[in-house]
Amino acid sequence: MPIAGDILIGFGRVSSPQHFHAVDAARGGILEPAFSIAGPQHVERACALAAAAFDPYRQSDLATRARFLELCGENLMALGDALLDRASRETALPRARLEGERARTVGQLRLFADVVRQGDWLGLRIDPAQPERKPLPRADLRQRKIPLGPVAVFGASNFPLAFSAAGGDTASALAAGCPVIVKAHPAHPGTSELAASAIVDAARACGLPDGVFSHLAGPSNELGAALVADPRIKAVGFTGSRAGGLALTRLAAARAEPIPVYAEMSSVNPVLLFPAALKVRAEAIATGFVASLTLGVGQFCTNPGLVLVLESPDLDRFVAAATEALAKSAAGTMLTQAICASYQAGVGRLRDHAGVAHIAAGPASDGKGLAGGALFQTSARDFLASHVLGEEVFGPASLIVRCRDIDELATVVARLDGQLTATLHADAEDHALASRLLPLLERKVGRILFNGWPTGVEVSPAMVHGGPFPATSDSRATSVGTLAIERFLRPVCYQDVPDAVLPAELRRDDKAGFRRMVDGRYEAKV
Ligand code: NAP
Repeated sequence: MPIAGDILIGFGRVSSPQHFHAVDAARGGILEPAFSIAGPQHVERACALAAAAFDPYRQSDLATRARFLELCGENLMALGDALLDRASRETALPRARLEGERARTVGQLRLFADVVRQGDWLGLRIDPAQPERKPLPRADLRQRKIPLGPVAVFGASNFPLAFSAAGGDTASALAAGCPVIVKAHPAHPGTSELAASAIVDAARACGLPDGVFSHLAGPSNELGAALVADPRIKAVGFTGSRAGGLALTRLAAARAEPIPVYAEMSSVNPVLLFPAALKVRAEAIATGFVASLTLGVGQFCTNPGLVLVLESPDLDRFVAAATEALAKSAAGTMLTQAICASYQAGVGRLRDHAGVAHIAAGPASDGKGLAGGALFQTSARDFLASHVLGEEVFGPASLIVRCRDIDELATVVARLDGQLTATLHADAEDHALASRLLPLLERKVGRILFNGWPTGVEVSPAMVHGGPFPATSDSRATSVGTLAIERFLRPVCYQDVPDAVLPAELRRDDKAGFRRMVDGRYEAKV
């Protein structure tokens, strides 16, 4: 399927007189075709269609909705090399990585199809009437969850497939029954358009209403801001910078009807190295750490940007091995020149910071998008004195914080901002110390890992990819895994509503067969 540079509004394609181009991330220069810049009239039309599609879409049968999600995945696969080639040129991400990301994207669409069919997300609860209850009878109460309404999804620069047009936010919102309008990331508009066409084709083939999905592209803040401000949009999914996420959160809160913004923004993902583990395997931990740090040129929200460790000769072994591994690591092209410039500025800030030593470096940057790793160290005392040292530098940079004892390490953890993850490298003799820190870590992060690395996020029912601010704007939610659907749902209670009027899954004469909680206990499935 050729890339036309069109604006996709429901099943229709339109163009506009204003255009922008994608950039070849590795070689520089523009990529054809020119992309139509969506303006206020396109936001208006997409929102009007999405609002009209909402009721018919949410009321369409769940088998069709599940099939729609599966077909989105099949259509993505059918795009074949065209999708991977374009993504590779727009992002400079290697082919193997993009193949893996495509598999993950298709996998999460299938997973949400399964979630839709299973129906637990409906959250069915029934408190039967108690007409004889004294002193007052109880009414018949039935609850289910319904979708919020049209959702605006912002494609992320660092996941052109899995967090973009057909990514996790879109899959979970569509699974919930919400129409989606995607604001394409301007760094990969061609990839985004291809993925969007796969969704539009699937919607049409499944007989879904026009407007269940639209795709708007443009290179400036105004487009996204107009979308979030539109009263027909009822929720927002975003992955990107803290500045961008906060701007959208403020816009959403200032609306006449404020709406939730699920923004995943910034995290340094502390790694805690415990004494016994370090004694036994300092070198192996260092090699694993550098591999995780430099994976994808460090452009993961789960990148390990902070290492907290107690002073010891074993820490020196770790530093020596990490320095050696980083020196051997390859440079990589970052997603955009702007992201590379921002990385270099962040590295410069750390290098110039009082009390921080630049201890290891990968290959030097060429100033045009190529970047290498950087490793710094500081004392806990200096770290605690400067909040800026705990802020994300997006890319392969990390800071080791040397702590005198466990109390000082606990103080550092207590002062950390909210994070997506915390990783503990600990052996059996470290478990008592780890247990002591666990309650503190639970308050700071969304996912706690032992003896692994935070990069690489499983898409599964138990996953949490979220965390307290500023990791995200809402710590109650996850943007990865099946629980992500909850972001786009709200409960409705039906009191004394007759069967003839009730939604099928809540009727006394239940034929739908979804799991229901009756009088506070889940019914045994027959
Ligand atoms: P970004 O600048 O936040 O942009 C993400 C999306 O949000 C784009 O579509 C952008 O559209 C839109 N946007 C940003 N600010 C906006 C505003 N004030 N009003 C309306 N829309 C707005 O993120 P990025 O381009 O991916 O990368 C920039 C920096 O973000 C990186 O250097 C890195 O620091 C950080 N980042 C972090 C993560 C993470 O997971 N923690 C992931 C990716 C990036 P327009 O550009 O069209 O305005």
